[in-house]
Amino acid sequence: MKPLIVANWKMNPATLAEAKRLFDSIKRGIKNVKNAEIVICPPFVYLSALESEIMRPSFAISFGGQSCFWEEKGAFTGEVSPKMLKDLGCDYVILGHSERRKYLKETDEMINKKIKAALKSDLTPILCIENISQLKKGTKDLLRKEQKKLIIAYEPVFAIGTGKPCIPEKAKEMKTAIKKIIGEEDKSSSSPFVAARVNEDISIIYGGSVNSQNATDYIKMAGFQGLLVGGASLDSEEFIKLAKNVTRACPVVELRSLRDCAPKLF
Ligand code: PEP
Repeated sequence: MKPLIVANWKMNPATLAEAKRLFDSIKRGIKNVKNAEIVICPPFVYLSALESEIMRPSFAISFGGQSCFWEEKGAFTGEVSPKMLKDLGCDYVILGHSERRKYLKETDEMINKKIKAALKSDLTPILCIENISQLKKGTKDLLRKEQKKLIIAYEPVFAIGTGKPCIPEKAKEMKTAIKKIIGEEDKSSSSPFVAARVNEDISIIYGGSVNSQNATDYIKMAGFQGLLVGGASLDSEEFIKLAKNVTRACPVVELRSLRDCAPKLF
């Protein structure tokens, strides 16, 4: 599985011209980065312009929204639907970011509805949590097959935008706790293959003051499958360095998933 590196540009940069320059520079820098999946999440208003600059289907960058609403269309002033994001070429959407919880008063119930709507539009939700309660409430009533489509981003609030990252050992403890919760229904399964498949399919990434120097610690030492990067994604040189360091540290493992190796078991 390739590590996932998600760039959350938040409400930056200030103009479309700057956004294009940043994107172009990242695009050129990561041209040869094949061992990672790079997802850029710009402000909604830049999505269309940036998306039109890439050549699909072989391009190495995917796009994501930074939020979405839970309805498909209608009288919801200021909102953007998952279907609209999909239509613009997004494959991902960040949901439950702590800044939206804090400034927009998003609740776990709202986030849960957004996750369900995103899945319906075939977007991969990147659910940001800082504790197990947010994980449980955010994923409430999701079917096992829906849970497996999520990416969980562990983002301790103290580490976001502060330059004070969570130490990898502590982050790893949380990753283990998340895996236990999200895979818990399958403990009852008598088949070791089912349990293995569940663990393999759940992607958990880390976010909070990640930079080119500490990025590999979260992948190699703490075992996260990727990173959510805020501040460092606005500096193209730093972001490219980060992506290159991660891919150097994790050459693609050509190990096939159990599903690929033994499809009859599933
Ligand atoms: C974020 O906002 O998701 C984030 C991880 O920010 P930063 O990297 O700046 O801490």
